[in-house]
Amino acid sequence: MTKYVYMFSEGNASMRDLLGGKGANLAEMSGLGLPVPNGFTVTTEACNRYYDDQKTIAPEIYDEIFRTLARMEKETGKIFGDPSKPLLLSVRSGARASMPGMMDTVLNLGLNDEVAKGLVALTGNPRFVFDSYRRFIMMFSDVVMGISRSFFEEAFEAVKKERGIEADLDLNAEDLERIENEFKAIYAREKGQAFPQDVKEQLILAIEAVFRSWNTDRAVYYRQMHNIPGHWGTAVNVQEMVYGNMGDTSGTGVAFSRNPSTGENKLYGEYLMNAQGEDVVAGVRTPFTIDHLAEQMPDVYQQFVDIALQLERHYGDMQDLEFTIENGKLFILQTRNGKRTATAALQIAVDLVAEGLVTRQEALLGIDPKQLDALLHPAFDPEALKSGKRIAKGLPASPGAATGQIAFTAEQATAAKEAGRPVILVREETSPEDIQGMAAAEGILTARGGMTSHAAVVARGMGKCCVSGCSEVLINEKNGTMTVGGRVYGSDDFISLDGSTGLVYEGSIATREAEMSENFQTIMDWADEMSEMRVRANADTPHDTKVALDLGAKGIGLTRTEHMFFEADRVFMFRQMIVARTEEDRRKALAKIKPMQQEDFLGLFRVMNGYPVIIRLLDPPLHEFLPTAEGEIKELADELGMPFERLCEIIDELHELNPMLGHRGCRLAVSYPEIAEMQTEAIIGAALQAAREGITVLPEIMVPLISEVKELEFLNKVIKSTADRLIQESGLSLKYWVGTMIEIPRACLTADQVAEAADFFSFGTNDLTQMTYGLSRDDAGKILETYYQAGIFEVDPTAHLDRAGVGSLMRTAVELGRKVKPDLELGICGEHGGDPYSVEFCQMVGLDYVSCSPYRVPIARLAAAQAALRYPRKK
Ligand code: PEP
Ligand code: MG
Repeated sequence: MTKYVYMFSEGNASMRDLLGGKGANLAEMSGLGLPVPNGFTVTTEACNRYYDDQKTIAPEIYDEIFRTLARMEKETGKIFGDPSKPLLLSVRSGARASMPGMMDTVLNLGLNDEVAKGLVALTGNPRFVFDSYRRFIMMFSDVVMGISRSFFEEAFEAVKKERGIEADLDLNAEDLERIENEFKAIYAREKGQAFPQDVKEQLILAIEAVFRSWNTDRAVYYRQMHNIPGHWGTAVNVQEMVYGNMGDTSGTGVAFSRNPSTGENKLYGEYLMNAQGEDVVAGVRTPFTIDHLAEQMPDVYQQFVDIALQLERHYGDMQDLEFTIENGKLFILQTRNGKRTATAALQIAVDLVAEGLVTRQEALLGIDPKQLDALLHPAFDPEALKSGKRIAKGLPASPGAATGQIAFTAEQATAAKEAGRPVILVREETSPEDIQGMAAAEGILTARGGMTSHAAVVARGMGKCCVSGCSEVLINEKNGTMTVGGRVYGSDDFISLDGSTGLVYEGSIATREAEMSENFQTIMDWADEMSEMRVRANADTPHDTKVALDLGAKGIGLTRTEHMFFEADRVFMFRQMIVARTEEDRRKALAKIKPMQQEDFLGLFRVMNGYPVIIRLLDPPLHEFLPTAEGEIKELADELGMPFERLCEIIDELHELNPMLGHRGCRLAVSYPEIAEMQTEAIIGAALQAAREGITVLPEIMVPLISEVKELEFLNKVIKSTADRLIQESGLSLKYWVGTMIEIPRACLTADQVAEAADFFSFGTNDLTQMTYGLSRDDAGKILETYYQAGIFEVDPTAHLDRAGVGSLMRTAVELGRKVKPDLELGICGEHGGDPYSVEFCQMVGLDYVSCSPYRVPIARLAAAQAALRYPRKK
């Protein structure tokens, strides 16, 4: 029979999939003999079962929960629901992957009117009891019953106001008892029934709520962002409460074993006395830094330092700990590998290796490749910053620089992003509902909260610039204004944030590119040593190629030659070529284009200086290039000496109903071989020139969008005869390859035939995904949204390679291709080439390289190393 509930003493860290990260670590810490409050975990399998059983808890799971609770009662000597020795519980979620702030928590569960009375008698501390009870009612109402928190917050503030009190701590026992009673009345009003007094019912409802929170919009969105599958489910941790709000020798806090912003090897955190955990995270009061605890409670501090060190050594990584001090006694409530900035991630990895705590391999595997993005983000231009007007200072919660107009709500931020306007999201404090808005904003500014507040933790995870706890900023969300130092700012005003210093500036300030640190180089060197695939870049200009080279690309995997014509004067010539109706006219236009192309290609060869360069023959979706404005058409007609009406007719003839499946890819060159001829002349001409300059070049000429080997054979003749003629005329010797993109399912299925005619394959997974799903690249957005809602898609297959379908086609192509040519060079140049999950798959199927946009090269390098460590190839 499946076991659905585990006492902490029955689990360990290796049971993460079943117990979730939090549960597995609580079990591990119990095993290490650390002071962890007693408890149990309801497994992720129980969560899946809950959904399978139409959102009900099956009788056998129900029984198992209460059987386990009885064991807990025995071990703690307390009884759930018994006023004379009450056991109170926290109920917290814990998925396999940490999803900070995504899931809901209920504290102080097991309180009812009788138990509260008993607890007053037992502790002699009515203030503590009513404080706990009012918190429980609010959390339970919000998290479990879906009653808006704002009703409770308003009632709470009203009592404070009436009593002329500013700080929560100044409320006395009577005030809190009154608040607790008002909260129960709000519950009764909203639910039409009294607040549940049956503690068993409270527990089951709370467990169900945690299960349901796995599928809230914000949780689903977080999973999409982090590629976490829905079938993992969440576990639920039920744990004996310990109290940080019992008085002046009690407290609660969060700390990292190293600085999560810089990586400095020094305990870093904050705590509040006489408070419960949510106060620290929500930023309701401004906490003390952890150093202060050394003065306030030296013994507890020392014990905490020792435990943090022990856990860091045990897990071989920086730990993020939650702790509570109850009447001077320390408890550890959670440990996990801490979220950190990219800067800190590299510093910590390099330090852990130097300290001998982990191997290089382990250190590399511990870094999230996507985080490197943050290192590649801009900082303010120092010159521009000099004239920036500083208006406030908050906490440097997440580094980087950002400029934008002010958005006061997540919705405004999302709308602005859609309209192409950069914004800074300005909030009192953020909560998980703000996630989409945070993702849409350039940066985030909050008036409240500490370094471990929601805004800080989430922004860091996103690699997004954030300044938190900026109390000089007064926000009026309703009026859409922010007042700083007497000046009022509205949503038309620009502000700038420096997430590395915590400074806020008026107006917009120019930014400049990031500079690579020494740690970055070290990590990248280690990554390259361990990788089995190389990383190339998709680059169309010498500038992009240089960026890619500086970021460690070892060649170009794709030059989209049509992209070389986006500039106004060039697009004009390009259009002359497209609308030409005779070979003679087309050749005239091509003759104008050729010198430009040749110069462009030479630029790429010079920068890549010996690394391979793949240049793809034209693949223009024609509709992107046709003129539409009357003025443009007139100008083109004049240039061509053609009547305006005739040109309009030609444009009409070129119009396609489905351009993505139309006259594009190799079909263009099959129709007009002179295009392939001109491009080959330009590529080989540039390569010969480069060779004369002493540069070794191996040009790889790539034919796009083939579905049938005969297309490739046809173009091979054009390309090779042109190339060989030029090489022969030059008297030099030059090797070149002709290969093809594999981006149509039929090409995958007939890859053995295609391989006969190709020197290399490059998977174009943008089109391959489009054509495998039959889902338009240009229109997928709206459909994806519907599919997420319906639970049909969990992630966007255009961003994360679909291993089951597209991947299976790739595997087929690899096997068929290599059967014919064991040394066939294989790579990928679709957008997936810069996505770690997809890069891993490329390693698994045996590709030689991945190619991605220049700024994603470092991510791909690290991802390639991690993939090689996880899936080494048999030598
Ligand atoms: C592809 O289809 O994956 C590809 C790289 O080509 P493009 O995006 O230019 O169609
Ligand atoms: Mg393509």
